[in-house]
Amino acid sequence: MTADRNQILFDRAARVIPGGVNSPVRAFKSVGGTPRFVQRAQGAYFWDANDKKYIDYIGSWGPMILGHGHPAVVEAVQKALLDGFSFGAPTEREVELAEAILARVPSMDMVRLVSSGTEAGMSAIRVARGATGRSKFIKFEGCYHGHADSLLVKAGSGLATFGNPTSAGVPPEVVQHTIVLEYNNIEQLEEAFVTHGRELACIIIEPIAGNMNFVRASVPFMKRCRELCSEYGALLVLDEVMTGLRVAFGSAQSVYARDIPGFEPDMTVLGKVIGGGMPLAAFGGKRHLMEQLAPLGPVYQAGTLSGNPVATACGLATLAEIGKPGFHEELSRKTQALVSGLTEAATKAGIAFCGDSEGGMFGFFLFPELPQNYAKVMTTDNKVFNTLFHGLLDRGVYIAPALYEAGFMSAAHTDADIAETVAAAAEIFNLL
Ligand SMILES: *Cc1c(COP(=O)(O)O)cnc(C)c1O
Repeated sequence: MTADRNQILFDRAARVIPGGVNSPVRAFKSVGGTPRFVQRAQGAYFWDANDKKYIDYIGSWGPMILGHGHPAVVEAVQKALLDGFSFGAPTEREVELAEAILARVPSMDMVRLVSSGTEAGMSAIRVARGATGRSKFIKFEGCYHGHADSLLVKAGSGLATFGNPTSAGVPPEVVQHTIVLEYNNIEQLEEAFVTHGRELACIIIEPIAGNMNFVRASVPFMKRCRELCSEYGALLVLDEVMTGLRVAFGSAQSVYARDIPGFEPDMTVLGKVIGGGMPLAAFGGKRHLMEQLAPLGPVYQAGTLSGNPVATACGLATLAEIGKPGFHEELSRKTQALVSGLTEAATKAGIAFCGDSEGGMFGFFLFPELPQNYAKVMTTDNKVFNTLFHGLLDRGVYIAPALYEAGFMSAAHTDADIAETVAAAAEIFNLL
């Protein structure tokens, strides 16, 4: 047997990088086995350190909506590189990208560019607190908004209590203003507003939660979030770092606006797709809120690499491609084909299975019905998932190495890739 280069690299990595990875989910801790070190990628595929090819359904956890190495994006990045990597002074492309983002997400009047979703989420909450003069905010269990201190929190015991830190190094005092509620629980939400409504700066929510697999906020729940925020003078902040421009041209907020007339958040957090794979994220919203930011207003926020010229070139080229007519329709068609193919294969094999998707984002559960909240997601079968994960990996299909993550389709995936994926899954289902 030839040496496993993934294992060799992982051993080397583990000596110099904590856990061998620069972001925890990459370590395969929940599924076991050796993480694949990516050597190169093209279109819908990447090759690991052993030169084994995989169909990639992670796409860097969302950004690679065009697939890897799209020629127009590569060209834009190469051209930008020659003009300089970073200046710490304004550039035309930042203005162009801001305009392009606002054209797609019209609930925002102004936007500020940053380098990561974590930064964007943290800054949006700071603006919400600064603009309202209030400290408390609501987040929902199972939603992830980056790793800022006040957001690393889980529900305390009892209803609508303040949370407990989920990470060492976060003092309890730092999360004392964070109220953690159950996703899709209208009753608990109403109770929290009755108790704390006038002290709440905002609700922050993933409209379609992609960090507990794939769980939609129900339309009545989202509607109630909007109504209560308006009634109590709190802001509704949609974290669309994952869903933004991926689930629809106008992001998840445009999907909810179909069912809730006039639906708009006060602020939106974006990342992933808008950078096309480069470190770029953004937060934006109504003009009077965004004008709270320095240098105009009292809310401080800054970044050495914010609006980086190479990242904005990558984002602009990506946005130009996904703005082409029919882009999301075709992406949706393929995502739906994958989810229904997997569902059919599992059902034939007598395995409990259900899935859901919106645009180019999907999720599935080895469970008879779609979970509505984090506690329910936690009850789904991890052992069967791990068997499926490793079976697919052996067969050259790379899905998220954890049950609690969403999946991502790209424009580069072909019907043949989807058929191959479904056939691989069917083989595994029949062995279970
Ligand atoms: C990925 C993600 C973040 C964090 O973005 P980073 O760029 O990893 O800091 C925040 N919110 C949501 C919904 C995400 O999916």
